[in-house]
Amino acid sequence: GQCANACPVDSITEAYEYSAVRDAVRDPDKVVIFSTSPSVRVGLGESFGLPAGAFVEGQMVAALRALGADYVLDTNFSADLTIMEEASELVERITKKAGPLPQFTSCCPAWVKFAETFYPEILPHISSAKSPIGMQGPTVKTYFAARMGIDPAKIVNVAVTPCTAKKFEIRRPEMAGAARETGVAGLRDMDHVITTRELAKWLKEEGVDFAALPESGYDSLMGAASGAGVIFGNTGGVMEAAARTAYWLVTGKNPPADYLNLTPVRGMDGVRTARVEIAGVPLTLAVVHGTANAKLLIEEWKAGRAGYDFVEVMTCRGGCIGGGGQPKTEIPMSDGVRSARIDSLYARDGSMSLRFSHENPDIRRVYEEYYGVPLSRRAEDLLHTAYINRAGDLGPSGMVEKPLTEYPA
Ligand code: SF4
Repeated sequence: GQCANACPVDSITEAYEYSAVRDAVRDPDKVVIFSTSPSVRVGLGESFGLPAGAFVEGQMVAALRALGADYVLDTNFSADLTIMEEASELVERITKKAGPLPQFTSCCPAWVKFAETFYPEILPHISSAKSPIGMQGPTVKTYFAARMGIDPAKIVNVAVTPCTAKKFEIRRPEMAGAARETGVAGLRDMDHVITTRELAKWLKEEGVDFAALPESGYDSLMGAASGAGVIFGNTGGVMEAAARTAYWLVTGKNPPADYLNLTPVRGMDGVRTARVEIAGVPLTLAVVHGTANAKLLIEEWKAGRAGYDFVEVMTCRGGCIGGGGQPKTEIPMSDGVRSARIDSLYARDGSMSLRFSHENPDIRRVYEEYYGVPLSRRAEDLLHTAYINRAGDLGPSGMVEKPLTEYPA
């Protein structure tokens, strides 16, 4: 696929990490907490005979409970948290010149690794905000554990994702903020990543009758999300969600209706741009999927032929709905399938009364009770990260010579 140079994780993928998760579920000493990414709920149904894009959130939560989950939380909650931090950072770059523009998004680990390897000079442009999964992990083991009275050392945090590259991301050494905060040595923020396909395989092995499951809801505290969190799974969705909250941060008001459906950044074109205005300041937004398109955009920008303020990059075609861990055999992958999944997420966003990350009551509470405000010291410590120049992985031929599977597993 497009991430041939960026996805380091084939060996981990093939190992079927869910068997380790199954062991944890069977261990009465462990508290297994699943967190589900936006795109899983519009892909998983395909593995059980449902049409492309079927919205199966309720059955998915029920299925995780049937497998023995102690808690099921929504990574969409942390998508909202990512938006709060990333939009605040964008506003600081624009109003206080706190960093260079354009700001690039950081939630796709394959893109981040591509930039670290091939464009280290743009690392100061990449938002320091961790991805939703990168924020979910430490928040579960600190805030959630304290509120629920759970010993963080007993928690096994499992992210269910459309993404194979997330298996690399959670193993980056710096993803251990909860250990610093709790003082528990060796604590990892997120312990396992299983893909949508791994979950489907596990459910089939256990004989769970997916389509017959009555719907279940998420557990509270970190289980509610806004429509902005929902659309994180689409190419263009992060941009759109961040633009909504950036507008509110600057003006103190929610954006007008035409701002809510930022249609120029939707769709399947490789590079899409839109211009918006916030308090009289014009901003140029760009949305890119695929590293080949990212390369084109970066080269144009470096040559001074294009200027941007905020750029979203996703490695997979269509964004995470088309991730490498999504079902692809029951219904062969095509742009039609991708569009059905995208439409399903936008339909969900459109049907929600809560469409702004900053209005999510669970997000307000986590700031009131724990993080204070976006970019606070604790937020910087647990919710932000730094990037590594990996240009040294390139040999004289310009190819990655160090086997990428060497990264710690
Ligand atoms: Fe993972 Fe693909 Fe989403 Fe990037 S775009 S986070 S590689 S699923």
